[in-house]
Amino acid sequence: MNESKLAILGGPQAISGTLAPFVSVGEQEAEAAAAVIRGGILSAYIGARGEGFMGGPQVRALEAKAEHYFGVRHAIAVNSWTSGLIAAVGALGIEPGDEVITTPWTMAATATAILHFNGIPVFADINPDTFNIDPSKVETLITSRTRAIIAVDIFGQSADMRALRDIANRYGLKLISDTAQAPGALYDGKLAGTLADIGGYSFNYHKHIHCGEGGILVTNDDWLAQRMRLLRNHAEAVIDAETPAELCNMLGFNFRMGEIEAAIAAIQLDKLDGRIRSRQRAADRLRTGLQGLEGLRLPTVVDGGTHVYYVFGLTLDTEVVGVDRATLVEALRAEGVTGLGIGYQNLHLLPLFRHRIAYGTAGFPWTSVHVSSQVTYGEGLCPVAERLHRETFVGLNLCHAEFGEDDVDLVIGAFRKVWAGRHLLRDSYRKAA
Ligand SMILES: *Cc1c(COP(=O)(O)O)cnc(C)c1O
Repeated sequence: MNESKLAILGGPQAISGTLAPFVSVGEQEAEAAAAVIRGGILSAYIGARGEGFMGGPQVRALEAKAEHYFGVRHAIAVNSWTSGLIAAVGALGIEPGDEVITTPWTMAATATAILHFNGIPVFADINPDTFNIDPSKVETLITSRTRAIIAVDIFGQSADMRALRDIANRYGLKLISDTAQAPGALYDGKLAGTLADIGGYSFNYHKHIHCGEGGILVTNDDWLAQRMRLLRNHAEAVIDAETPAELCNMLGFNFRMGEIEAAIAAIQLDKLDGRIRSRQRAADRLRTGLQGLEGLRLPTVVDGGTHVYYVFGLTLDTEVVGVDRATLVEALRAEGVTGLGIGYQNLHLLPLFRHRIAYGTAGFPWTSVHVSSQVTYGEGLCPVAERLHRETFVGLNLCHAEFGEDDVDLVIGAFRKVWAGRHLLRDSYRKAA
């Protein structure tokens, strides 16, 4: 059989068998979890004033370790990064109807955190090279109601924090970093997530490091830290007549991380630097190997920063490639390439936003007796993000497999094979289909 015949056309696969999956936990985590279980205290939180308000020994040890690693005054462990985002927005103390500018190219939780406090998400388009929020677009969207910006360090590298900080300072806005996908990435010599007023990381199973489900907030601001610790643990139950009036609106949640998760996360944090190095090695090898494939744009790494490659983001010039994205990805998958995603996310086109209905059925919080928001959503709002999602973007997830050198070479081989045979693909596959 002809080795170069594409698998999608009946040839042999470039990658036979599956790539070794990335298994991030091992004996150390098992030991740590077992020790917690033997001790019998799986969570030591109490939602009332006193010792237990800040959590048990494992939670506090994880926070101390994270404060040291990220070089921040406060690290606050939570039961997911979605919870962390909600606590971060809540800490800012926004009024219903206040606007928060964010990116449509992210996971839904980034924007829904705003809605939980009846704030209005405003979507700014992204930079086509980095896929991060475009500061020049942010500035055009600022109104008298704007209170904050939530930047996302998407796919593993920091957003343009220099420009965003400058805008935030000039307009008196708070800045939040959703660094779920870029723990350990550097920007101007500092760790991504620590350059905002509040930042934080996810420990869900799919991220660089994980404890099943979990997350951690970081900040250098004592007041914001206090508010986030309150929101994490039934704030209303500990607020009394003596506390400052600004804390009376603290409607809390249960965002508490358990002791087992905290013990696992602390060990995972020790592994982060090693994980990052192996992702970067894989990405560098991939970059060299995919260089020169016509019509394929490789990820850009901005000056003064590092990329930790949660996703290796590719952009296709389909005119040059000569094959549409869906067919090309189908051909790559047929060769055995896993972890490929077609497009990513356009939050501004989700029904929740298009119809402007989050609570009840009458349009709240966009429309109410207190708010009459002019903000609308739909096609054409973020043309860069829309085109990438609909036509040109392909993400290769680097966190799903081990990606040793041999694995990376197999992936490169599959891409090269598909590129070499793609003209045939265009002719015969199209005809057959
Ligand atoms: C994973 C992720 C989240 C949510 O984190 P969870 O821990 O799963 O709640 C939020 N934002 C981004 C960009 C993410 O990748």
